[in-house]
Amino acid sequence: MAAYRPEPDRDSRAWWERVARREFAVQECESCGTLRFPPRAFCAACRTEGWRWREIAPEGAIESWIVSHRSFAPGRHDPYPVVMVRLTAVPGCLVYGNWRGERPPEAGEPVRAVFTQVDAELTLIDWMPESSTPARSGENQANC
Ligand SMILES: [Zn+2]
Repeated sequence: MAAYRPEPDRDSRAWWERVARREFAVQECESCGTLRFPPRAFCAACRTEGWRWREIAPEGAIESWIVSHRSFAPGRHDPYPVVMVRLTAVPGCLVYGNWRGERPPEAGEPVRAVFTQVDAELTLIDWMPESSTPARSGENQANC
């Protein structure tokens, strides 16, 4: 089975190009200032089309995760966790990515983005623990 590769589309192509340059950005509405992710053509808050990129800190907290038992991602061997991260700078935005911790993720733990160049055309955002020491070992109940 061929490994899954993200397919950039009209709205996400420029975002993938930024990821390849190790830039972590979300869209910012030029009219109302709402930050949004994933990229889309217009603002869900005010319905206008004008927007610009806004670089943000590549940090967040684990919202939830799944454990994939199929090798959809290039270079991954199953089973492996895929995490859902709530961005610190934009709490309304969730980003998905591979887990790069040496242990399973924990709900609510702080994480930071790792840019992983898969090949010449593809760079992915993975997530690793902010600290290698589990800070809240009593709060590891998953939402998945
Ligand atoms: Zn807006």
